[in-house]
Amino acid sequence: MSDQQREAVRRTWDGVVATARRTAADGLVVGTSGNVSARAGDIVLVTPSGVPYDRLRPEDAVGVDLEGRQVLGDLAPTSELPLHLAVYADTGAAAVVHTHAVHATAVSTLVPEVPLVHYAAAMLGGPVRTAAYARYGTRELAENMLTALRDRTGCLLQNHGTVTYGNSLDEAYDRTAQLEWLCRLWLTASSVPGLRPSLLSGAQLREVQDALETYGQPG
Ligand SMILES: [Zn+2]
Repeated sequence: MSDQQREAVRRTWDGVVATARRTAADGLVVGTSGNVSARAGDIVLVTPSGVPYDRLRPEDAVGVDLEGRQVLGDLAPTSELPLHLAVYADTGAAAVVHTHAVHATAVSTLVPEVPLVHYAAAMLGGPVRTAAYARYGTRELAENMLTALRDRTGCLLQNHGTVTYGNSLDEAYDRTAQLEWLCRLWLTASSVPGLRPSLLSGAQLREVQDALETYGQPG
């Protein structure tokens, strides 16, 4: 490994650990559930299985190649590694965040697609789908996830949690936070007895997506 590669790996690992700590601090995961990864060239830095994020040190870096062979570190990579690798194989993602955020996970047990209660769905590429259930860590779950992610940057995993990706760790993290917020909003609006939330139409959402492409982030 060249000095330049070593530096990129070190920086990416710091970012992975900081983002994983953020998911715990912001209440998106409890304990060591959920996991974070990011690419440094052809190496994927990923949180290890079962180690609390506040105990991860620079020398604990876990890296795998794009086929999942461990190339760095002694700790075992997260058992959800197939999920992360499937996103990298299928998209141009630089980072992936997976959580068991409570409102998003609750919604994953209720609907095949998050109802369009807010245009924030446009930030995730459109109405957010729920991937069909399969056991964690399986190839089947990774395949179901890819189906749900088509033309989207995030999805729910039925009775399990969330997956989002982005061009950076911050972008992937922000999309998870948006998705959790969107699910919380729908749960809140739909919990008023006798009333049902109004929903945006597909055309109204597309209008927002067009505006996003033209003007950037909305208010
Ligand atoms: Zn999980």
